[in-house]
Amino acid sequence: MYGNWGKFLRVNLSTGEVKVEEYDEELAKKWLGSRGLAIYLLLKEMDPKVDPLNPENKLIITPGPLSGTSAPTGGRYNVVTKSPQTGFITMSNSGGYFGAELKFAGWDAIVIEGKAEKPVYIYIKDENVEIRDASHLWGKVVSETEEALRKEIGSKRLRITSIGPAGENLVKFAAIVNDGHRAAGRAGVGAVMGSKNLKAIAVEGSKRVPIADKQKFMLVVKEKVNKLRNDPVAGGGLPKYGTAVLVNIINSNGLYPVRNFQTGVFEYAEEQSGEGMTAKYLIRNQPCYACPIGCGRVNKLPSVGVTEGPEYESIWALGANLGINDLASIIEANHFCDEYGLDTISTGGTLATAMELWDKGLLKPEDVGEDAPPFRWGNTEVLHYYIEKIAYRKGFGDTLAEGGYRLAEKFGGVDYFMGVKKLELPAYDPRGAEGHGLGYATNNRGGCHIKNYMISPEILGYPYKMDPHDISDDKVNMLIVFQNLSAVIDAAGLCLFTTFGLGADDFRDLLNAALGWDFSTEEYLKIGERIWNAERIFNLKAGLDPERDDSLPKRFLEEPMPEGPNKGHVVRLKEMLPRYYALRGWTPDGKVSPEKAKELGIEEFL
Ligand code: SF4
Repeated sequence: MYGNWGKFLRVNLSTGEVKVEEYDEELAKKWLGSRGLAIYLLLKEMDPKVDPLNPENKLIITPGPLSGTSAPTGGRYNVVTKSPQTGFITMSNSGGYFGAELKFAGWDAIVIEGKAEKPVYIYIKDENVEIRDASHLWGKVVSETEEALRKEIGSKRLRITSIGPAGENLVKFAAIVNDGHRAAGRAGVGAVMGSKNLKAIAVEGSKRVPIADKQKFMLVVKEKVNKLRNDPVAGGGLPKYGTAVLVNIINSNGLYPVRNFQTGVFEYAEEQSGEGMTAKYLIRNQPCYACPIGCGRVNKLPSVGVTEGPEYESIWALGANLGINDLASIIEANHFCDEYGLDTISTGGTLATAMELWDKGLLKPEDVGEDAPPFRWGNTEVLHYYIEKIAYRKGFGDTLAEGGYRLAEKFGGVDYFMGVKKLELPAYDPRGAEGHGLGYATNNRGGCHIKNYMISPEILGYPYKMDPHDISDDKVNMLIVFQNLSAVIDAAGLCLFTTFGLGADDFRDLLNAALGWDFSTEEYLKIGERIWNAERIFNLKAGLDPERDDSLPKRFLEEPMPEGPNKGHVVRLKEMLPRYYALRGWTPDGKVSPEKAKELGIEEFL
């Protein structure tokens, strides 16, 4: 087999048993790898009804067949598990170097089961795998953990992924962080790792990923890298200003969410844009493994020194969403979220929910304690004070650690929670991109943008410009293609930013040359469709109610955008959703139909 090694690790932390398991090319051809392999294993082996923080939940950490190769952005890995935040599937994805190193060690995945009696870490050096005591690491922030492990193991190659105090304390939106600042951030994967008493995984490998036709593969890689370099976003805006290049673009298009999505135009956008950050704080770019784009930012500021990030979502979540303007405070807050292992989007979204509850008089000073700073819009003190309190579940931080939905529910303001399936939304107001809104509502992991980035066609014009307020079948179809294609890119081990510059045919070329297959683009998209449907089946079995859960906050459905280019617009979800179900081949009430399951060869899981 090429690309995939055809073997993965199964580590049972309850018994201490480490097993090597094999999978064959037939299975790889059906699921590709990574996100695909993971959902297959979860459906086959785990009851989707398990409590996410119970030892029975499995945590699958997995690079893809192109991870560790020279394919552009080939360094990513997925973390797939049942989310403690949503109660559904999550497949958080991270860049950096950890995913590639895991491939160099000869593994396609690590399936982690059970719960260790005391804190442990997993050390992998090629085929040698050990579960080691991590009592001395428990309580440490991410940079301290990485430093201590580097010292202890003493290898220059070592790559580490770990949780901070947030994961240890089971914060519902805790992240897993590798290479200091790269996070598998969303939907609480860090809490699942913490619930298993697993502090870190350290890996070093010495192998080279097997490629079917090396010469052909290198030619294809060269061609795709050139395409990316010549693209105005992948080769221009992203390397120059980072993902924060989006701040001004999204704001001028009137869908940059401000003060918990009350409006879509932020008066201070320019100051916290990629252009502003580059001029004031940037030292250099930081690309992930094999990435010709290099959107990562390394900044320097007096309070924290040299730090990586923030990227677009974090600038917004810790900035405009809270009415905060001060970029230095945002960079600092992002730094501490990485150190404690917190997802920045959900941290910002939860604080924004608190601010609106405060604004509306539902959350009161006596609820948060006398010394706590008021949850006033724009109050940077809230960032400084609460990020640490959330990570350690101290004081009112304990309530915030449950996430925005549970907070809003507790204080009687569920309509002020801006999320889907209990996951806080990212930085695009769907009233300015209605297809993107349908994407939020139907995303398997809840309020997530990255698995169906309709901002590409609706705002940025990739692969071509679509009217953001068109809700025809063309738009719905485009969303379905984006969802299926995103699943292929994740399963391959690539970064979704490659879609600026590369289309579905380009991914086919890279995969075929590396794996030695001659699949058509349609066959790869079919794999993506299979993955999407399998995840949907998992969610339905976990208790997903399409009528309740494929939805959007009331604000987007009933409160027209008050100003800017999208003034007067709401999201016409009710009109799009039945057509989405029909075009997916599902039943009218949103279930995967027996015919569709049979067509995709996953009827055994229905
Ligand atoms: S585009 Fe950015 S996030 Fe994606 S692989 Fe490159 S540096 Fe990493």
